[in-house]
Parts: sequence; C-alpha cells; structure tokens
Amino acid sequence: MEKKAIAASEGIAIASVFKFESPTLDIVKETIEDVEDSWQKLASAIESSKAEILDIRDHTAKTIDEESAAIFDAHLQILEDPEIAREVKEIMNDEKLSSAYAYDVVTKKYVTIFESMEDNKYMQERAADVKDVAKRVLAKYLGKSLPNPLSIKRDVIVVAHDLTPSDTAQLNKQYVKGFITEIGGKTSHSAIMARMLEIPAIVGAKSILNAVNQDDTMILDGTTGTYIINPNAEQHQFYTQKHKDFAAEKTRLKALKNMKTITKDNHQVELAANIGSDQDLTSVLENGAEGIGLYRTEFLYMNAQSMPDENTQYEAYKKVLEGMPNQKVVIRTLDIGGDKHLDYLTMEPEMNPFLGKRALRLCLSEMAIFKTQLRALLRASAYGDLHIMFPMIATVEELLEAKEVLSICAKELQEENMAIGDYKVGIMIEIPSTVFIAKHLAKHCDFFSVGTNDLIQYTFAADRMNESVSYLYQPFHPSILNMLKLVIDASHEAGIWTGMCGEMAQEYEALPLLLGLGLDEFSMSPSSILKSRESICKMNYKKAQALALEVLTYDNSAAVLQRLKKEDYYD
Ligand code: PEP
Ligand code: MG
Repeated sequence: MEKKAIAASEGIAIASVFKFESPTLDIVKETIEDVEDSWQKLASAIESSKAEILDIRDHTAKTIDEESAAIFDAHLQILEDPEIAREVKEIMNDEKLSSAYAYDVVTKKYVTIFESMEDNKYMQERAADVKDVAKRVLAKYLGKSLPNPLSIKRDVIVVAHDLTPSDTAQLNKQYVKGFITEIGGKTSHSAIMARMLEIPAIVGAKSILNAVNQDDTMILDGTTGTYIINPNAEQHQFYTQKHKDFAAEKTRLKALKNMKTITKDNHQVELAANIGSDQDLTSVLENGAEGIGLYRTEFLYMNAQSMPDENTQYEAYKKVLEGMPNQKVVIRTLDIGGDKHLDYLTMEPEMNPFLGKRALRLCLSEMAIFKTQLRALLRASAYGDLHIMFPMIATVEELLEAKEVLSICAKELQEENMAIGDYKVGIMIEIPSTVFIAKHLAKHCDFFSVGTNDLIQYTFAADRMNESVSYLYQPFHPSILNMLKLVIDASHEAGIWTGMCGEMAQEYEALPLLLGLGLDEFSMSPSSILKSRESICKMNYKKAQALALEVLTYDNSAAVLQRLKKEDYYD
C-alpha cells in the first residue's frame, strides 16, 4: 500500500529496510544474592564493548584520521578504569545491588562531577565520554546493541524515529540509498543534510518503525513523499523507471553548468550553494554554483570529538575558499542550539531550545569559542572572497557587539603578524525583529541573507521540527512575502545585496516571486541549482515583478499558489 509523508529530499530509493533504533535502557534497582555472578555479567559486557570500540577506532583511523580515532582510546581507558570497578564492587558488596545498577550509579556520579567543572573543557569532554561508554556497556549488559551508522555495509533505506544531524552526517552514501523518519519537518537539519548529500528522504512518517520489519523491501520517493513497504511487481517496475528518468534529467541539466543565470530581459541573479563541509565542494562544482551562499560551520564542530581548534578551522575554511577561486564564499559562524548539539559541550537544559541560547547568543556568551572561530576565519580570508555571516541576529546591538569582537580578533592577529585579507560582514535575516529594522542593520553590514527556515518558524510560532504543526510552514504566505519585500528594498536603498539561504530559495514555484521581489542571490543545495537556472533563464523579470507586487496584497498562501499556476512570468 502506498503511503505519504513529508517529502524531504528528491529522488527514488529502492532497497531493504534498516531499522535504526536506540534501545531504551531500563536499569532497575535490583538486589542480588550472588555478587560474583552479577559482577561477571558486567565484566563480559565490558569485554564485548571493548571489542566494539576497538573496531570503531580502527574504522575511524582508516576513514577519517588518527587524531579522530584517538578519542576511542579515552573510551577504552574508561572501560578499564580501576577506580570505577572498585566503586561498583563496593556498592555491590555493601548494599547487595546488581552490577548494572551499581555501574549506572557510579558512572552517573562521574558525569555529574565532570559536567560541573564548567570552565574545564577537558573534563566536559570526559563527561561526554563516560556517558557514551556507560550507554554502550549497559546496552550490552541488557543484550541490546546501539545503532551504528558506520556498520551499514549493504544497500539499505534507513528507518528511524529521528536522526540527529550527526547521525545523518555519518551515513555512507554508498550504502544508504534513502532514509525515512517518524518525526521532523522539511526544514529540520537532517532533511537539509539529506538534500546536501543528495540522499532521497521522507520525514514525519508517523509510526513507520512499527509498520516495517528489518529487511522488508521499501520504495521511497523523496520527491513526492510517497513510500511503499514490500511493493508488488508493478510498483517496483514503475519506480525503477522513475528512478532512471530522474537520473536522465540530471544528466540533461548538466548542459547548463557553465551558464550565467540571466532572465530573457537581461536581469542577472546569482545561484549559490549551501554546504556543510569542504567535501560538498565536488557537488558544488559539478552543479555549476556561482559561489557559496551558506557554509554551515556547525557540522565541522559536530563531526569532531572535541571543540575544533583554530588551526583545524583555519585549514577547513581555507580549503573551501581555495576551492572556489574568484567566487564569493559566505561562511556562517557557529549556529549550535535548537536541534543541533555538540556532545562535548554541556549546555543548560532549556524549555524552548529554538528560542534559547542558540547561535550568536551562545557565541557572545562563550567568547573563547567565538574568538577561536573568528581568528580562523580572518586568517583564512587571505585565500579568497570571504564573507563572514552572523546567524540569529535580533538587534543592532548584537551585530555591533559581534563586529567589535571581530575587530578585536583582527587587531590581535595583526599584532601577531598574521596575514589577513579583505573580507565582508553580513547577517542572516531570520528573526522577525530584523525585518523591521533592516534599514538600520544595513548601515552596519555588507549583505543580508534571509534564513526562511527560521524566519517562517518564528513568524508563525510553529516549531520547524514538529510535524504536527508543519502545515504552518508557509513560505508562500503574504506575511512572509511582504517581509521579504521590506528586507530587499531596505538593502537596495542602502546599496547592499540580499540573498536567501533558507530552503524557500530552492522551492521551485517560489522562484518567480523571489526574482520579482528583487532577490539578488539564491543559495540552495547544489542538486537544485541547474533546474532553478533553467527556469529563471526562461523568465521575464518585469513580468515577475508585476506578479510579486500583485500577490503581496493577497491574504493567504493558497491564493498565491493558485495565481502562480498561470505561469505568466515566462517570456
Ligand atoms: C534558515 O534558518 O533558513 C537557515 C538557512 O539556517 P538554518 O536552517 O541552519 O537554521
Ligand atoms: Mg537559521
């Protein structure tokens, strides 16, 4: 039977199901009679965890590097820690409680102690390590195993309740043909990453984990959001053909790779790419991007086991700038918080993480983290056309404060005789307050880039991760279109440009509206660029302008979408 959920990343996948489930670990306070017997059970869980960690260490050393692999040495040390073993045995002997319960108590105690050492980065990292190790050991003890994306070695469709952005980053495209999750929206970060990795994906498929069995065959159409469990021969044939057509269309579009993006009446715009790491550069170049409109640097942090230092970051930014000679590269400063976490950075629990200490707010309160990144960026500026972008700006004061830190870093580097090139500074427009003070913000920066994923979530007060309010993700709503007009006009009056790096920029139907509103740069997943270029090159700018002005007066999204169907913006 065909079912539908939210289409998150284009393309067709046909493969067998791989259920990606984190087990629940219920450790009960259980009294025992035989201490030695219970201890042996824990000891064997520790032994098999050791074997597993050695395997992962080996794999990491081969596929990433020795430095990243070293983190697992710390895990092995924790497994063999004599003090933990002594304390566990003490509880077992004194209180006659089970080894699993005692191990849980002791490891949690260390996690709390390490986490409380707020200023000690090393101890914070150890807390994350102890948590990880304890989870693995207790899962083994209970006869359960933790999901490991690296262990996938055959063609599969990953089925999960949710995938964190770092789970998604570890998926190996060679084997993972697609994924489908129970929760999430079109703009949750695992969906965004799927588009960047060009993995077909569907999100918001409620109860899918219960509906499938391991190794069932599944068809997933990430373009329409349709999925089929154990398809019949006819469905199999239909989607195999659709998969071939999809690939053929991609090949056809390659002819547009080196073209500029100019309307029939000679209005030029720029189509740039969103990336999450330097590894995306191949796809950026293959798809004819005219620059990088958003480099989400948080993935560099999320893929590391500890805070990346200045040199590591400098090398990564330099690589992207050198990979895009004579082209603009917008690198966004760290945007952690919301649905993006760093295992090694302990943050106060928040009631509403998307409204909390996220992105620039976190950076301004963690100066050491912020300055390390800014120094790395400034050093890398010598290697290309760097545009530094601050996320989650809400006020002029925040922008001025961020710029002040940037100039302090520049001064420090000059005193250290480090080379700095030219660079530009811009901000994301993704909090509604900034729309209405755009003309003031424009005085202090060189460009704007609209983050519609957040701008829409904050305007409609609808969590972008929550599929039950996903109907309020309405990029075509006149409220959003009018906000865009205010921002773009304010930027042009101030003589600066406005781009868009939110997912709306790759919403195919939105292209004539954004063009008509005067958007200067459209930044999207590399795989969407050529199709967008083909469409814009057939449009007439003046007609698109008239269309945009007309729909600004409408009162709902459906009416705007209906009006777009006339397609009277082509020449
Ligand atoms: C946005 O909010 O539109 C955006 C591009 O940033 P992110 O999706 O990383 O929050
Ligand atoms: Mg955002």
